[in-house]
Formats: sequence, C-alpha cells, structure tokens
Amino acid sequence: MVPVPLTSRQPPAWQRALQDAVTDPAELLALLDLDPQWLEPARAAASRFALRVPRGFVARMRRGDPGDPLLRQVLPLGLELDDAPGFGTDPVGDLAARSGPGLLQKYDGRALLVTTGACAVHCRYCFRRHFPYDEENASRGGFAPALEAIGRDPTLREVILSGGDPLALGDRRLAELFSGLQAVAHVRRLRLHTRLPIVLPERIDAGFLALWSAVPLQKVVVVHANHARELDATVRAAIDALRSTGTTVLNQAVLLRGVNDSVDALVELSEALFDAGALPYYLHLLDPVAGAAHFDVPQATAQRLVADAGARLPGYLVPRLVREEAGAASKTMLPPASR
Ligand code: SF4
Repeated sequence: MVPVPLTSRQPPAWQRALQDAVTDPAELLALLDLDPQWLEPARAAASRFALRVPRGFVARMRRGDPGDPLLRQVLPLGLELDDAPGFGTDPVGDLAARSGPGLLQKYDGRALLVTTGACAVHCRYCFRRHFPYDEENASRGGFAPALEAIGRDPTLREVILSGGDPLALGDRRLAELFSGLQAVAHVRRLRLHTRLPIVLPERIDAGFLALWSAVPLQKVVVVHANHARELDATVRAAIDALRSTGTTVLNQAVLLRGVNDSVDALVELSEALFDAGALPYYLHLLDPVAGAAHFDVPQATAQRLVADAGARLPGYLVPRLVREEAGAASKTMLPPASR
C-alpha cells in the first residue's frame, strides 16, 4: 500500500487516535471477548460518566478476563451507582481552593491550572469525575486571566498544568500557555500532570518534543500508571523521549482494589517504572469520590502493603503513600506499617 502523505490539514496521529477511542461499552466488551452480562450495567454507569479508552490501551488488556487490572480502571460497573457514605462530588476541596479562572491554589509556592476538561481515558476512580469543567477550565476563555493571576503572585515558583489532561490540548494552545508562563519572571518550574504518555504515548511526538524542549524552565512530568502492564515498549519510548529533553519524569499511582492492591503488583509497578525511566513518586489512597467506593483500600491495609513492598525494593523505588485532605496545607504522608 502506498503511504498517504500527511498534509498540513490532517490532524497529527495522536489526535486521530484520541478521536478514535472506544466510547461504546458494547464495542469494548466485543473487543475483549467479554460476556454481554456486563453491558447493561456498563451502559447505566456510562450514562453518568462516559466510557473512554484509547485502542492502544485496550490492546494491552487480556482478552476474556473481566478482572484484568487495566480493564477494571476503565470499565463502567453497576457498583458505581450505589450510594456510599462519605463519598462525594468534590472529595479534595478543589472548589474551595479556586483562586482564579481554572486556577487552584492549595499549597505554598505552587498553583494548579485546570487547563482543559478533556482526557484521553476516563478512569472510573477519577477524583474529578464530577468537576464542573464547563465553568472551571482555563482554556475556555483564553489563558490570559489565569496568567495574569499567576503573574500577580510573586510567591509562586511552580505551576502545575492539570485537567483533565493538559496534553489533550493541541500544540498551538500549549505553545500559547508555555510562552505565557515563561514570561512570568518568578515562575521557575513547570510541571505537567498527564496520563497521555501512558494511555496514548503517540502524543509525545516530534512536534510536542520540539515545543517542550524549547521551554527554558525546569521541567517535570508526572505520569500516571497504576499497573506494570500499562508500561509497554511504546510507553517506554515516550518516557525516554521526555527525558531526552531534560525533563524529570515521576509517576503517581492510586491504590485501587482489584487493580494493584497486592505486594507483587506494587513491586512490579515500581520495577517497571524504573526500567522505563520514571521514579515512583506518590501512591495515593483513593479520594472519596462518588461512584468509586468499590476501589477503596483501607488505610491500614495500604500501610501494610507499602511496608511489605518496601522490604523488597530499594528505598528510591518505594512510593510515598499519601492521602489528600480538603483544606490541608500539604498532602498527608502515611508511614508504612511497622513490621
Ligand atoms: S486521566 Fe486523570 S483527570 Fe483524566 S479521568 Fe483519568 S484520573 Fe481523571
């Protein structure tokens, strides 16, 4: 077959992959040879928080296994419809931390910009699954008001781009944002929180790398993988490419029942991350968001798991177990259980 030359009008491959994501529960079940008994509850749960998963991520799942740890992160379940006491729509106090359009300020020296409501994947445990992105989204009316708010606060040394997923924005929007941030003299570090290098590694393409390399700030990318099997050769290449730009690459994971709540899973995740060039940074306890209670792992169990994983790993591969509490001055570090 003769390759079709790309024209400047054609979206880049990553945007085509993004648009081609699986959004119909029936298709996901068919692709994975799963029993149609899952369909009705999946449709009911997806009517509240839509299914979305890139095909490349589906390809890393085991066919015929409804307990696959990658599938469990994205398959809508009837359990999401159950009420759970203590689980709400704003579990970490995002809305009270608002300091400008799409701008959240919880901790000294740092501000977080909700750049977009779009994500490549819809993680069923997402703490922002009920976030009012239509109102709180810095890209909606242009970035200028948020950039002005950052410019007015000389205590800010670091800006965190979050969302949604900041890398779901196209390069033109990112270039606008990066140049606005680098013009603020007191901002020294730029941090991206993104799941795209894991679920859609095509995003780290030559265009983005050229743009990102040119940013003269200290650069940190915090990716989000929860299980070793998420890290295939395409993901390792994407992380390698990010590191080649002088970026520090860290990982944050969420401890999820049925996904990574075993010592073996945590050890394998840390080893796979280090093989890929990313350091395990945080292991979050689940934020109590409505619809995700079935993923919850009790704190004492989490502390024991981290202690047991720590006995099998060098210290630099043991993630910090943390819980985020609304209104707290920092994340709460939870020490491993004593052995
Ligand atoms: S990628 Fe992040 S923001 Fe998007 S659904 Fe997953 S956890 Fe939520």
